[in-house]
Amino acid sequence: METTESLKAAILEEKKRLGPSTMILGHHYQRHGIVEIADRIGDSFGLAKAAAEASDVKYIGFCGVRFMAESAAILCRDDQKVFHPEPEAGCPMADMAPMDSVAESWRLITTRADYQGRKMVPVTYMNSHAPLKAFTGEHGGVVCTSSNATKVMDWAFEQGDLVLFFPDQYLGRNTAKAMGLRDEEMKVWYPSKPDGGVDSLDGVRVLLWNGHCPVHMKFTARDVQFVKNQFEGAKVVVHPECTEDVVQLADAAGSTEFILNYVKNLPPKSLVFVATEFNMVKRLQTENPDKRVEMLTRSLCPTMYMVDLHKVLRTLRHLDTEAPVPMPPEIKEPAREALARMLSLA
Ligand code: SF4
Repeated sequence: METTESLKAAILEEKKRLGPSTMILGHHYQRHGIVEIADRIGDSFGLAKAAAEASDVKYIGFCGVRFMAESAAILCRDDQKVFHPEPEAGCPMADMAPMDSVAESWRLITTRADYQGRKMVPVTYMNSHAPLKAFTGEHGGVVCTSSNATKVMDWAFEQGDLVLFFPDQYLGRNTAKAMGLRDEEMKVWYPSKPDGGVDSLDGVRVLLWNGHCPVHMKFTARDVQFVKNQFEGAKVVVHPECTEDVVQLADAAGSTEFILNYVKNLPPKSLVFVATEFNMVKRLQTENPDKRVEMLTRSLCPTMYMVDLHKVLRTLRHLDTEAPVPMPPEIKEPAREALARMLSLA
């Protein structure tokens, strides 16, 4: 029977056979065994960029969810191929912004009487499908990550006076709040409601697409309040995909890389509660043995978990017959433009 150890050994054997032409990338939310066999661990954008910049690499095995493998396929060179060991592993938040809804909403907003004379700029979170990134590029917009959302939104306000933020309403709201926007300057756009559920655009500067990450929605303000009351001096650090009340009560909020550094830089013996994906917090516990790192609540991303060692091994053994992540040029080019705009702001 195959064990984790025998699968890891077989994968390492395959990697040796394939040589430097093959690279395995693993997102921070992947389980431990995957992290152990990956050549690089990081967030979706960092990994896609790393693959594109690796001159010898021709085949990329992307261990994460589909939009991440797609992002790598958008950014990589034409002679590189990206393989996703589990093509069914999608992202529920990315699924909340289907293209027919996006296109219809764009039409509805830009033809409203109270829109006339204004200019809307789409800002799309990395956690989105490739066609939405392409739509963003075609409409003069930009992609953002949780670590550069403020800078990107600043840029968007230089281009126009209204931002349509896809697909995570909470990252959009938390970012706008941190920039000093008031509640009345933001409205949630509900694509299923008549007129998006927005009665007036007067005074509105950000329209937030009605999407969310189910994994980060599990953390509540009550959880934060509870640990603050029970554990004097404990710190709470959260991801900005959490709801606004959670972010406001926490000691700190930031991207995956921010959370990694926040925990690392705490003094020894600190107690910290972390509100992000289960496997990432497990890793923080292992990597910070001098601190007590706790989960605010257990919240595992089930689609991230669909990638396993069996599937990685199968992919490596069949690179010549497995289908790479499809990325037609009519999607790749405009999506890349939206990503390039983000990069130029770095
Ligand atoms: S953690 Fe949330 S945003 Fe990330 S892949 Fe899972 S559902 Fe999507």
